[in-house]
Amino acid sequence: MNPDVVQFSRGVPPIEAIPARELAEHTEAAVAELGPRLFQYPPIGRYLGDPTLREQLAKRHDADPDHILVTNGSLQALDLLAAHLLSGSGAAVYVEGPTYDRAARIFERHGGRVSSIPLEADGMDLADLRERLRAEVPAFVYTVPDFQNPSGVTLSLAKRGELLGLAAEYGFTVIEDIPYRDLRFHGETLPSLSELAEGARVITLGSLSKVLSPGLRIGYVISDADTALELATRSEGVYLSPVGLCQAVAARALGSGLVTENVERARDFLRPRHDAAVRSVQSSLGDALMAVPDGGYYVGVRVKTGSDPDAFLDRALGAGVKLISGSAFYPSTEKSTVDTMFLRLPFQAMTPEEFSTGVERLAASLS
Ligand code: PMP
Repeated sequence: MNPDVVQFSRGVPPIEAIPARELAEHTEAAVAELGPRLFQYPPIGRYLGDPTLREQLAKRHDADPDHILVTNGSLQALDLLAAHLLSGSGAAVYVEGPTYDRAARIFERHGGRVSSIPLEADGMDLADLRERLRAEVPAFVYTVPDFQNPSGVTLSLAKRGELLGLAAEYGFTVIEDIPYRDLRFHGETLPSLSELAEGARVITLGSLSKVLSPGLRIGYVISDADTALELATRSEGVYLSPVGLCQAVAARALGSGLVTENVERARDFLRPRHDAAVRSVQSSLGDALMAVPDGGYYVGVRVKTGSDPDAFLDRALGAGVKLISGSAFYPSTEKSTVDTMFLRLPFQAMTPEEFSTGVERLAASLS
């Protein structure tokens, strides 16, 4: 790949947002404290993960530690959860359109009939969902409510309440996936769906990848005691037990306040990148911007490609910008042939200059 090509590809944290030195110190301290048993198999038998880490996560989310299973990254939690909720049943699953691509693939792999609810500037189109519920109630609705991957859209407070009302009325589960939630650069944090749940069943997926380190692979799922034990049994059948060393380091990072400090540092580092990215999309692509994200890693746009999607992507690459096809962010059965394409533009790992060069090349490829 030509090094001059601007790559709008993955949501990887910038290396500056990972507190490597402090993590090395915590690793050394964890080894000194826990000794050889840190290098032994962690327990098996419905093991939910490092008890100290679960205590810390429970405090962070005001949850019961017995409701939390810690996994090797939250994608693994999603895979275990999909296996548990779908068990190859062919049940319906509703996701946002666009949605997190890997989530859609996981649900499909576990036999879900995945279809999307259109995403608006303030979250999924609930009139569309209501209509769909009359025809079929899904096993679950999957949402990334804060600074969504891939669009940057946040589900509004009003829609959070309405979605939960529908979940309670029709009896479906809501999975909220919140890895970016703490990375808000402007405005007030909205309550999470689990905080608002009342009569609805909400399962929360969390991750330390974007607030501490993706290399530690610490993800978790917060559900209820029975579901947590079910998922733990499934996890044992796949990987015996999670990585004890990483969990011990993560427990120290949370307990010492490093995660809280690092969230502040990451926000300060990313805020100017976010602001510059929004300005450059507004000036080069105008109303293609789906929403001003105010947090997270991504800006989403809908553009008129004026041609076949693959021809457009080739033209953009020729102009020096590599893009992921928008159809990746939709269920496989919904590959669109229309000339409007969704594009995800991650801004977190690029300088503002690099980002705006990429956006200008993208704009030039449209005309
Ligand atoms: N969910 C969402 C919405 C994500 O964006 C990501 C990472 N890109 C994940 C889950 C997986 O994160 P991890 O496995 O590193 O916890």
